[in-house]
Amino acid sequence: MEKKTIRDIDLKNKKVIIRVDFNVPLDKELRITDDRRIREALPTIQYVLDKSAKKVILMSHLGRPNGRVVENLRLNPVAKRLQELLKEPVKKLDDCVSAEVSSQIDNSKERVLLLENLRFYPEEEKNDPEFAKKLASLADIFVFDAFGSAHRAHASTEGIARYLPSVSGFLLEKEITYLGKALEKPLKPFMLILGGAKVSDKIGVIENLLAKVDAILIGGGMAYTFLKAQGFKIGNSKLEADKVEAAKEILEKAKKARIKIVLPVDHLITQKIDTAANLKIVKDDIPDDWIAVDIGPESIKLFKDSLKNAKTIAWNGPLGICEIDAFAGGTKDVADFIANLKDAVTVIGGGDTAAAMLKFKLEDKLTHISTGGGASLEYMEGKVLPGIACLLDK
Ligand code: ADP
Ligand code: MG
Repeated sequence: MEKKTIRDIDLKNKKVIIRVDFNVPLDKELRITDDRRIREALPTIQYVLDKSAKKVILMSHLGRPNGRVVENLRLNPVAKRLQELLKEPVKKLDDCVSAEVSSQIDNSKERVLLLENLRFYPEEEKNDPEFAKKLASLADIFVFDAFGSAHRAHASTEGIARYLPSVSGFLLEKEITYLGKALEKPLKPFMLILGGAKVSDKIGVIENLLAKVDAILIGGGMAYTFLKAQGFKIGNSKLEADKVEAAKEILEKAKKARIKIVLPVDHLITQKIDTAANLKIVKDDIPDDWIAVDIGPESIKLFKDSLKNAKTIAWNGPLGICEIDAFAGGTKDVADFIANLKDAVTVIGGGDTAAAMLKFKLEDKLTHISTGGGASLEYMEGKVLPGIACLLDK
């Protein structure tokens, strides 16, 4: 069911409370080291302002204060940066709910207000109905735009939606369009690239998408459980011994359904992950004591060749230990390749995969890089996300 967005509701003279994701990284001096999440929230905030809303009340969590007030996790640096980017005064409040907060909102000369870190209240993550009701009482309309929190039923995501007309913002709409619609009815051929640390993390995605894909390309740590299942020697590479059977079953199912599973045919290997010294490329079997840290050049070629005619590509999980530059080559080469495909829809999910694409500066060349780590994975697993389900249907 399609969800209503801020385009579908009258915002004029309304107090609008927006759940954003301002969970930005801060350094020791409490300086914001990456303001992407604030910048990405601007179009929704600006639209609500342009539609003559009376007040825009923003709320977010930051870090893990565990239900207590933690001075270093106040949203003050966020308010300051938001004010610069929005070019509009932002009033930062020091609390989330109270009679004082309500009167500060009603009496402020500023149109944009930012509540304090929601997770200073244990009620937030407990989805406490009283707390949700108090948040709701601050406004007339609820806008949900924090996709990264959509898989958690918290007071500021799912709870509040029970008490106010609730719609999605533009960021969430984009996530629903690309992770939802594009993968539900993908243009074919549809290729799924999977990697990352663990098979167990990705089994749900395989199960949900197996019937829709034309091929699954598997790299990263999870590839070695599959290669083990095929009888290869994998040395000391990442293995989930209790998932070898599951890997065999997936290979069987795919074969029956004539879905290609493409596994690496060569590997970049090392004896110690923390150094980039003493690297080798091997084909097929991996010698004892050696660890595969990236897919090899033949595999990169094979992956590119498999992807060249794709119309939809979904990717979750890096193909090697890409946080170490020397082991990022496979992920980067394949990423560059799909970014330059002319008419493929390219959708990236997963926190580490998204971070890699941003590091490779491919933001503008890929169709969609999801802002939600765990949420994007659950969406690709076909799960109903509570933060989306609770919004008004179109
Ligand atoms: P995402 O966050 O995009 O869903 P994951 O969290 O599943 O991705 O996987 C990222 C992790 O996978 C990284 O920490 C990376 O080091 C690890 N990884 C990738 N390739 C390998 C490998 N060959 N061996 C061990 N770990 C790997
Ligand atoms: Mg991860």
